[in-house]
Amino acid sequence: MTTPVVALVGRPNVGKSTLFNRLTRTRDALVADFPGLTRDRKYGQANIAGYDFIVIDTGGIDGSEEGVEEKMAEQSLLAIEEADVVLFLVDARAGLTPADIGIANYLRQRQNKITVVVANKTDGIDADSHCAEFYQLGLGDIAQIAAAQGRGVAQLMETVLAPLAEKMEESAVENSEDSEEQDEWEQSFDFSDENDTALLDEALEEESTGPDHKNIKIAIVGRPNVGKSTLTNRILGEERVVVYDLPGTTRDSIYIPMERDGQHYTIIDTAGVRKRGKVHLTVEKFSVIKTLQAIQDANVVLLTIDAREGISDQDLSLLGFILNAGRSLVIVVNKWDGLDQDVKDRVKSELDRRLDFIDFARVHFISALHGSGVGNLFESVREAYACATQKMTTSLLTRILQMATDEHQPPMVGGRRIKLKYAHPGGYNPPIIVVHGNQMDKLPDSYKRYLSNYYRRSLKIVGSPIRIQFQEGN
Ligand code: GDP
Ligand code: GDP
Repeated sequence: MTTPVVALVGRPNVGKSTLFNRLTRTRDALVADFPGLTRDRKYGQANIAGYDFIVIDTGGIDGSEEGVEEKMAEQSLLAIEEADVVLFLVDARAGLTPADIGIANYLRQRQNKITVVVANKTDGIDADSHCAEFYQLGLGDIAQIAAAQGRGVAQLMETVLAPLAEKMEESAVENSEDSEEQDEWEQSFDFSDENDTALLDEALEEESTGPDHKNIKIAIVGRPNVGKSTLTNRILGEERVVVYDLPGTTRDSIYIPMERDGQHYTIIDTAGVRKRGKVHLTVEKFSVIKTLQAIQDANVVLLTIDAREGISDQDLSLLGFILNAGRSLVIVVNKWDGLDQDVKDRVKSELDRRLDFIDFARVHFISALHGSGVGNLFESVREAYACATQKMTTSLLTRILQMATDEHQPPMVGGRRIKLKYAHPGGYNPPIIVVHGNQMDKLPDSYKRYLSNYYRRSLKIVGSPIRIQFQEGN
């Protein structure tokens, strides 16, 4: 299921960045600075009221000038086109301005979008009377929020995202042949027959690995021109590429099933595979949204880097997204062919330096063009996925916790030693470990890092981030 995209639009100073920060709970958003994209778009991951979504701050649209459409940068328009929901922010204190009317005129032509007028800065004023004039925009009801305090924000997101989630769920059920097959299979079952019991056992055995465990979703992401399509082509082989000639929309990635050594995979193709000999067929441009959705939806992400370009800030931003989403990661340094040894050495030392904070991920040096090193990627993909989904038990996690605290005790705070009592699994993919104890809010970050590293080493987790949550008491 693709993650919904919410775009924030509005004239400068209405509070878009404030709302953005509130939704993403972070100040370091991915600032798109890819070739072909303007600088001031910000992309963030958000989770509010139980919904995951991607939020875009479309930057300063100033509708007061003539021809809003021309004034909005092309990418800003694209962001609106690609969004499921447009939150059109206005300033309840400043009241209705000509710029707001200009933007509303533009948005009203986009009938297919869920567009909500959001009156911000309603704190400390009589909101209802201040908001009344915004009905003139002709875009329906006005949601009232105070982004700075967070008031009304969760309720707003619940209101817009709940129906969307339902709609997506419905279409997922309609499209799912698997579930139909499953129904038929269940109906054909007759439990009165003894032979069927054996069959049922067999089926249950399959069930226990779970359908998700049989299919690993791989997203191939990276900046434009690093070699994503070349790598996808190489992985799929020529035959499949010819079969696979589906029209990709600008919005959606294409999901390509494949099999290798008995393992099923789905390649999430963000680049658009080029048909051999018809290189110019691909018209799709690089899309940040597509990339972020692919990361959200994948089990394992192949972050592709161009050896000839080195590691850029955008690579690090993408990395931040992958870690934030808790996805398993394999780093692919592409275009490793025909490089002098001193260049190779330089690239390797740069990697060591700039990526030292993700020492858990495998790094592969490959040539997608010539195929060298490509086959080995799958070993790391399987390993990362296996690590991310490996079974953890309360007794094992608690034993590891005891070993860790024996080797290195948590510090004393105010004359009392911080006590870590036991740990249990909190989730998989990424592995989540919940640690219970006393004075948990006093536990220093350095000790948290120590524990995290200790768990990683003890559980031999490679290729996946792990999360440790600390809970007070029992
Ligand atoms: P942007 O240009 O649309 O991104 O607007 P900003 O997020 O930078 O906000 C512009 C100004 O409005 C800043 O000084 C914010 O502190 C202020 N502001 C944002 N949200 C609120 C709010 O809910 N209440 C009040 N009183 N001020 C706000
Ligand atoms: P994408 O935008 O990330 O999908 O990148 P492409 O797959 O379209 O590749 C961009 C350019 O890099 C093309 O000219 C490719 O032929 C070239 N390229 C891709 N992989 C390699 C590689 O392993 N070695 C070399 N030398 N060139 C490559």
